[in-house]
This record gives sequence, structure tokens and C-alpha cells, in this order.
Amino acid sequence: MFKINDNYLKLPGSYLFSTIGKKVNAYAAAHPEKKIIRLGIGDVTQPLAPAIITALHGAVDEMGKAETFKGYAPDLGYEFLREAIAENDYRARGCQIGADEIFISDGAKCDSGNIQEIFGPDNKIAVCDPVYPVYVDTNVMAGRTGVYDSASETWSDVIYMPCVAENDFAPELPGKTPDIIYLCFPNNPTGSAIKKAQLQEWVDYANKVGAVIIYDAAYEAYISEEEVPHSIYECQGARACAIELHSFSKNAGFTGVRLGFTVIPKELKCGDVSLHSLWARRHGTKYNGAPYIVQRAGEAVYSPEGKAQLKQQVAYYMNNAKYILEGLKEAGYTVSGGVNAPYIWLKAPGGMTSWEFFDFLLEKANVVGTPGSGFGPSGETYFRLTAFGSYENTLEAVNRIKGL
Ligand SMILES: *Cc1c(COP(=O)(O)O)cnc(C)c1O
Repeated sequence: MFKINDNYLKLPGSYLFSTIGKKVNAYAAAHPEKKIIRLGIGDVTQPLAPAIITALHGAVDEMGKAETFKGYAPDLGYEFLREAIAENDYRARGCQIGADEIFISDGAKCDSGNIQEIFGPDNKIAVCDPVYPVYVDTNVMAGRTGVYDSASETWSDVIYMPCVAENDFAPELPGKTPDIIYLCFPNNPTGSAIKKAQLQEWVDYANKVGAVIIYDAAYEAYISEEEVPHSIYECQGARACAIELHSFSKNAGFTGVRLGFTVIPKELKCGDVSLHSLWARRHGTKYNGAPYIVQRAGEAVYSPEGKAQLKQQVAYYMNNAKYILEGLKEAGYTVSGGVNAPYIWLKAPGGMTSWEFFDFLLEKANVVGTPGSGFGPSGETYFRLTAFGSYENTLEAVNRIKGL
């Protein structure tokens, strides 16, 4: 008789977006005349930039001719894309990352979920609270997190690092020593960022205690402040302790196209075993590469036209972020984020819980956001709005909230 991986049964139901969907659908059915504005889910809305569309068309045509047809991609990804990344995301910023340390994939969600496979079952993980749920849930599936306590909504073997107003939404070095530390800056869901000196502390700490940092840089393109690092490899010593994850979803609108990459420096070792070689083995065995067509589209992200067009796209969303941030401040809300990230994180007013505020906003303003409690216990009483809507909808949503 077969047996299942019963770690899956330990997962508490992730009802966040399905509960939101149900509540919104029920409200819409009862009030068909109301125009609901959705600033909840973290998905982009602007179409792909022209430079990317041109690259996609060109690559599709290549696939239609015997002379230029491409089959399986190289294991790590095409050289043209890995070189463009090494040059633009790293060398141009003074980071020493070689093209052969970059692994192309179909997105950062998969990579952030799969990367734990190359670590043993006994590693202790540390995560920010609130957190992007993938980091914890994939470690639950691997049996690494102990017992779930539904009262505190925490796992016995996970180290939680609260990120709340009191610490400016930046985690503090944990009391217990972790083996694997997940960090994501600029952050989803809080929209907060940390300065290079703060990240350097984490790198020094990881090197001191022998931990590895998994650094999710999915929102790097939204950084507007000078002191905020774009890559963990801007920090001294990061090559010996950090893995970095990138996505083309938020900077270039690839949420439906699918492309990302993971960087593992060759110095990153456990004894004399390099993590680079383990991930290369994993990649080669379980993955057959992002499509050629999509990797050409990724290359266009780094072309002069692509860069200029995407700068505008990011600016469009950040203009929304500014409007939300300033509008809510004027309306008396306590708000943060929205400067280096497309997320605005606000405190639910009047002692409301995050779900109470969700219902209030849906019913009174017909605006949908995301309750902070869905990202972890420290998210209770907080609420996330995204800047990924259209400008017109963002304007109207903020004006409705101001009018409450
Ligand atoms: C959106 C997002 C990603 C990107 O996921 P893709 O699979 O590349 O679309 C990764 N990490 C965080 C925290 C995100 O919010």
C-alpha cells in the first residue's frame, strides 16, 4: 500500500486568496451595481514592453526555421542571457558574479521553494514574520519545521523574526542560531527595505555562525533610495554565505511569461562541498530549462530600449504607490512601504483586526486589499495594498478611502 508524504497533512489550509475571492464574489453578487477595485493580489497589469514583444516575435520566427530552431536549452540557461545578467545586474554594480554562477529558471517562486532540497532535513530555518508563505510551506513539506501550533500560528522548529513598526519592519538578529535564513528585500508584504549597512550585518552574522542566507531580490527594480542595496553581493563576504533569487515578474511583467534566476557563488561551501555543484546537479536532473523564446525576451530586458521602457513601467507603478501612500497619510492612516517597493502596508485603524478592516474596506469603499494576518501572526492588524493597479483605479480607490 502506498503512503503519502504526510508532511503535506501538517500544512494549515492556505485560505487567504480563496477566502478573499469568496468574500469579494459574494459581495459582488449581492451588489451588482458596485464597481469593485482590486488592489489585493500581487500581480502586474501593464502589458509587456514593446522591446520584449519584438524579441518574442523574433524568437518565435527562429523556432519556425530549421536553421535557427532550438531544442533543449543548456542546463544553466543560454549564455546570452546569463552574460546579460552578469553584466547588468552584477558587474555594473561592482558585484563579482560570473555568468557561470547564474542558473536560469522559470521563476523565483519555484526556485525559492526548491532550493531547500539541497539542504539536510535537520537544518533550522529563520524567516521574517510576516513572510512570503512559500519559504515556510516548502520546508513544511520537507518535514523540517516541527509541530504547528494553531493558537500562535507558528511552527515549533521555525525561528520567527517579527517585522513590525517598532523595528521599522526590519528583522533583528535572532536569539536562537538558524542554519538557513530567508530574507526578502524590498519586502513583500510590508514594502520595507533595508540599507546596505543593515544587510552587511546579516552577511557578517551568517558567516560567523555558519548559516546560509537565501536572499529574494524579486523587487530589486523598485528601489529608489541610494543606500538600499540591489544585491546581497554588494556586501563584503556574501559570496561565502548567500544565494540570491531573482524574478522577471515584477520588473518586466513576466508573471505570465515565466522567467527567473538563482545565483550561487562557487565559494559557497559546506565543508568541501559546493552548493553550486548540488544545485547544478538538481537543475540538470529535475529541470529542462526555461523556453528559448522566453530567454530571448529576458535578454531584451537588458537592451537599451528594454531598460528605458521598463524604467517607465516601474515608474508608473511607483507613481501609484506614491498616490496611495500620500493619500492614506492625509486620511490619517499609519502607512509604510511604497518607496522602494510596490506595496503599501498600513495599520488597520480603530483597533480593527486585518480581516475586520478587509470587510470594512470592501463594504464601505468597494476596495479589495490583503489582510496582513495572511502573511503571519505579526501581520495581524496590518493590511497590504498594491500599486499594481491602473492609475485610474488607484486614484479612485484612494479617493474612496479618503471619503470614508
Ligand atoms: C512575486 C514574487 C516572487 C516572484 O515569483 P515568480 O515565480 O518569479 O513570478 C518571488 N518572491 C516574492 C517575495 C514575490 O513576491
